[in-house]
Amino acid sequence: MIGVVRKLKGVIYEKKADGFNEEGVSLPILCRIFLWKGVIRRFFLSSFRKKYIDKNSLKRQGECLRCGACCKLVVNKCPYLKTETHEKCSCVKHESNRLPNCKVFPIDVSDIKDRDLILKKPCGYFFD
Ligand code: SF4
Ligand code: SF4
Repeated sequence: MIGVVRKLKGVIYEKKADGFNEEGVSLPILCRIFLWKGVIRRFFLSSFRKKYIDKNSLKRQGECLRCGACCKLVVNKCPYLKTETHEKCSCVKHESNRLPNCKVFPIDVSDIKDRDLILKKPCGYFFD
């Protein structure tokens, strides 16, 4: 499965420009299914493994660059994602009721790898 996703990743990168804030990212269905696995994983961890979340949040470094890539993991583009400038996005739900999945992203390296399927430019967060 991972091999298939890697191949698809190559196809995606060839097809799309390496820029911020594309309106949406249309992925092959297999790739999207793979990303949904990560969505379910984050939901499970944020609901039932709070100690793991807390432990990993201490290892997380960097800061959000507001590229919006993590807002394109469930569907091509979350309806709450707003493009502000060429390089910055914002979430209209940020101060009110973002989902737990959004609040904890990225939990660990696995999330970063998922997010990297959407955008080549790295996430502002990283783990040692
Ligand atoms: S992918 Fe990383 S840098 Fe981009 S919006 Fe999400 S958390 Fe921020
Ligand atoms: S609710 Fe906000 S943070 Fe969560 S995916 Fe949508 S735009 Fe991104």
